[in-house]
Amino acid sequence: MKIDSSERHSQFDRMYLDSAQGELPDKTYRRNILQLLIALTALFSISFGLFNWQDAKLMAISELCLALYSILLYPFSRQEKFQFNVSLLFIIPLYSLFLVSLIVSKEAETAFVWLLVIPVLSHFLLGRWVGLWLSIGYLLMATVLITVRALISDEVLDALVMSNLALAILAVLVFSHVYEASRVRAHRKLLRLATTDSLTSLANRTRFLDVFERERNHAARDQTELSLLLLDLDHFKQVNDRFGHDVGDEVLKYVSATIAHRLRKTDLACRLGGEEFGVLLPGANLDRAIAIAEIIRRNIADIPYTKGNQVIPLTVSIGAAEYGYDGRDLESMYAIADGHLYKAKAGGRNQVRNRIEMRNCELDLALAE
Ligand code: GH3
Ligand code: MG
Ligand code: MG
Repeated sequence: MKIDSSERHSQFDRMYLDSAQGELPDKTYRRNILQLLIALTALFSISFGLFNWQDAKLMAISELCLALYSILLYPFSRQEKFQFNVSLLFIIPLYSLFLVSLIVSKEAETAFVWLLVIPVLSHFLLGRWVGLWLSIGYLLMATVLITVRALISDEVLDALVMSNLALAILAVLVFSHVYEASRVRAHRKLLRLATTDSLTSLANRTRFLDVFERERNHAARDQTELSLLLLDLDHFKQVNDRFGHDVGDEVLKYVSATIAHRLRKTDLACRLGGEEFGVLLPGANLDRAIAIAEIIRRNIADIPYTKGNQVIPLTVSIGAAEYGYDGRDLESMYAIADGHLYKAKAGGRNQVRNRIEMRNCELDLALAE
């Protein structure tokens, strides 16, 4: 089977689903929006700063400071790995300026309107939980400030306008949070569908290639071990021919469950296609990989699949490869494991083949000569 290298550029990462920042997919899209927002903030802040210069010096100075700050922040927003931090660094001064404007603006209602932006921006840039808590924090501060302002000045706020605004902000907050939560759920579901084999529920090739890439980087960086197993059911065509395609499918599910059952949480089993499977074993050297392969092979051979009163004997051939010794990328490791798998087939099937055992064979042959 040929590995299409273009598939290796897929964005999927297993941890992606679980990490907090994993809730913020479409990083490139979000980065572009963040850049646009920072640029617009710089532009608007300059305009407002110049506009307010005569009548509201403090406000104008704050706005011009924000403009300068946004311009300085802009280059950092280009890097995706700083996206979350840059979003925070952008949002906090911006919201702080909203609070300042609540105190110094002539009409509190006008400044109050800007608070509507807070929940939307926070959820979009920071995800549902950080977004929610940051929004609540700033909105509470705004409420305190506006109350204090009303108490210490003689200003009479229009109660109807203010309560309408407060309700609108609350509605936007709830909507932003619910929307973000359902978007994350839909995104996760889509990711799972796109990276899972529908018949066996194992990972599919796309996910396998991505996880391999991540684990390989990890192994290279931290000098840890990593092994790969390729498995192919023996004479599977005969199972289909004798028992029918549907039973063949059931056998594939059964074998998948047997393989997955033997693995740790950090290992990854995948259906590469047809009746071929791949197993990625992070932290396992070749000895350990062979031991796991032997357990899987024996389990499949020892417990045949039964359908009614029909017993379907199964065996599997396995080729193993180890990161570092058998290659440093998927193409070379895959080629080595595939070579061993081929030898396992040629050698009579129902066996595990690997580098060590091949070397022993060669030594035996040399000694025999
Ligand atoms: P070998 O021991 O050399 O691997 O023999 P084999 O019969 O397993 O290999 P071969 O490649 O000739 O046949 C693989 C078969 O797997 C052929 C195809 O019908 C069957 N197959 C592939 N995908 C599926 C599937 O999704 N469901 C079922 N039921 N069969 C499948
Ligand atoms: Mg095959
Ligand atoms: Mg086969």
